[in-house]
Amino acid sequence: LPAAAVESLQPDDVAALLPRPAEDAHKYTRGVVGVRAGSEQYPGAGVLCVAGAASGLCGMVRYVAGASAQVLAAHPDVVTENGRVQAWTVGSGGGADVATMLVEAQEDGVPVVVDADALALVDGPLTVPAVLTPHAGELSRMTGESREAIEAAPLRHAREAARRYDAVVLLKGRHTVVARPDGRVRITTTGVPWLATAGAGDVLAGLIGALLAGGLSPFDAASAGSWLHGAAATYASGGGPLTAPDVARAIPAVVRGLL
Ligand code: AMP
Ligand code: MG
Repeated sequence: LPAAAVESLQPDDVAALLPRPAEDAHKYTRGVVGVRAGSEQYPGAGVLCVAGAASGLCGMVRYVAGASAQVLAAHPDVVTENGRVQAWTVGSGGGADVATMLVEAQEDGVPVVVDADALALVDGPLTVPAVLTPHAGELSRMTGESREAIEAAPLRHAREAARRYDAVVLLKGRHTVVARPDGRVRITTTGVPWLATAGAGDVLAGLIGALLAGGLSPFDAASAGSWLHGAAATYASGGGPLTAPDVARAIPAVVRGLL
């Protein structure tokens, strides 16, 4: 494919994509994202995924998995009853229930973000529009290609995976590659190496779910979400270390700067 098929979002592009509340908006018209992530074993991943989802870009977050107590303690605005959603984020810190989470999320027929342990269960196209969010190690486990080969040619491997799974594939790393099945690619370079920290990917998965629920296409949600996530990390870092909760907390400030 020609180099022209590779794009890089600019701040104005992201601003134009962001969902904005209409004057007569209510929380349901802004979209509801469901999160099936975290478990008794890994409650923190559920909390961080919700932190990314609850950064204000859709109307409501529903949480339906095994870390409800921890999620509610950190996010009193989250609803823990099952109900209608416009998108799901599935898999971060999923523990033993991750296969059920992936099946149940697809039953609603809405777009799904598939992260972490749930990625290992994807062996072909899903039944719903999907964003797959592997790092090189996770993509290696999915496709059988070596991690070294993927890291040496991330663009080609993200494109091949997007075609193979008929989904948007967001390949995480120093630069993040977002590929569509037709070969179109966006590359994100807004992050910083300090972002290589536990839980950072969980925040990203939740944020992309919120953007899907807000009405963005899988390609736009993945690429705008990745852009915002990297920019939030850069903002929170200020040239120094950061933690995953810092990244989530910085998202509204980055969004404010774009509006
Ligand atoms: P995960 O591996 O799921 O925790 O996700 C890690 C997050 O950190 C992803 O958003 C990566 O793109 C990002 N990341 C990892 N390493 C780097 C790096 N060296 N520079 C910038 N971002 C990184
Ligand atoms: Mg991860």
